[in-house]
Amino acid sequence: MTQPSDKALVPFVSVDNMMRLIHHIGVEQMITQIAAQIEADFKRWESFDKTPRIPAHSPHGVIELMPTSDGEAYGFKYVNGHPKNTSEGLQTVTAFGLLADVYTGYPTLLTEMTMLTALRTAATSALVGRYLASKSASTMAMIGNGAQSEFQCLAFKAMCGIDTVRLYDTDPNATAKCAANLQGKGLAVIPCKTPEDAIEGAQIITTCTADKKYATILTDNMVGPGVHINAIGGDCPGKTELHRDILLRSDIFVEYPEQTRIEGEIQALEADHPVTEMWQVMTGQAKGRTDDRQITLFDSVGFAIEDFSALRYIKKAIEGTEFFEPLDMLADPDDPRDLFGMLMRAE
Ligand code: NAD
Repeated sequence: MTQPSDKALVPFVSVDNMMRLIHHIGVEQMITQIAAQIEADFKRWESFDKTPRIPAHSPHGVIELMPTSDGEAYGFKYVNGHPKNTSEGLQTVTAFGLLADVYTGYPTLLTEMTMLTALRTAATSALVGRYLASKSASTMAMIGNGAQSEFQCLAFKAMCGIDTVRLYDTDPNATAKCAANLQGKGLAVIPCKTPEDAIEGAQIITTCTADKKYATILTDNMVGPGVHINAIGGDCPGKTELHRDILLRSDIFVEYPEQTRIEGEIQALEADHPVTEMWQVMTGQAKGRTDDRQITLFDSVGFAIEDFSALRYIKKAIEGTEFFEPLDMLADPDDPRDLFGMLMRAE
């Protein structure tokens, strides 16, 4: 039996190893470090190939591919969105991803990305929050207390100085789960019975619900001046969270407009409604929050560059560690043209 050469072995990070790595680094620390990588990559936005992600819609949910490249590395994420899954004991969102070397085309990393997506989404939200939320923000309403919610709360604590979270979910069991998971994590946690109660006194409102419809998690009268809204759950055609009137009162910030206009809250607006791209805020070409009474809205859908940043972060983080396994996933014959001979010798 021929042994695969080292250059053909691809580092593979399993869910188990990802969890060990996260514990090794620390959840908040890792979110903060991934955010720094995302910020650095957003600041060199123009060096990336960009395309809206490629969806395969079905009545059950959506499966998406999210590719990008900076000319040296290529990355993609496979991700699904199936809001009905939790009622069957399955996750709404699962993902895995791959990084490759553009020069050879060989993969350089294969990794689980369900955990990593929660970290990178939280990292992106809090990074954007740092540019857009009031500097004195201390309370966040967390509406939708599912898989992403604890990561979001900890990211805003670590990066935006949030010390109190007010939780609301239509399913009280989800709120109880989130509250229990956040015990001892340095946040005051207040479970709420209504969304109106949850937003009381909150300077930041995060909506992270999953339902494939034009939902109205927030109505116009619920959003006061000065609030920053971090709207994550509306990320698919026909799936939004905010009443249109809120959009009309807000300054709207997005990742990649070409994708957000298809998938984000702004699908409810005219195609030429002005939005600001976050990479331009980060590079100083556009303004973020300009006054205390402004309502800022991050219409987040999740963009491929955030996954690329997270993948590159993981590739570096596992170097010299035991948090991965070498995976024999590339046929790499000694004579590159003798693929058949390699097969015959293996008999
Ligand atoms: P999840 O299914 O684990 O949790 C969603 C929660 O929302 C559930 O607890 C559900 O009871 C609650 N909910 C549904 N309708 C509600 C309502 N009207 N009011 C309050 N709560 C309500 O899903 P998740 O993994 O936490 O993801 C949440 C959403 O975020 C999904 O739609 C997902 O597609 C999206 N998402 C976006 C990004 C991004 O980058 N923008 C990344 C990951 C996930």
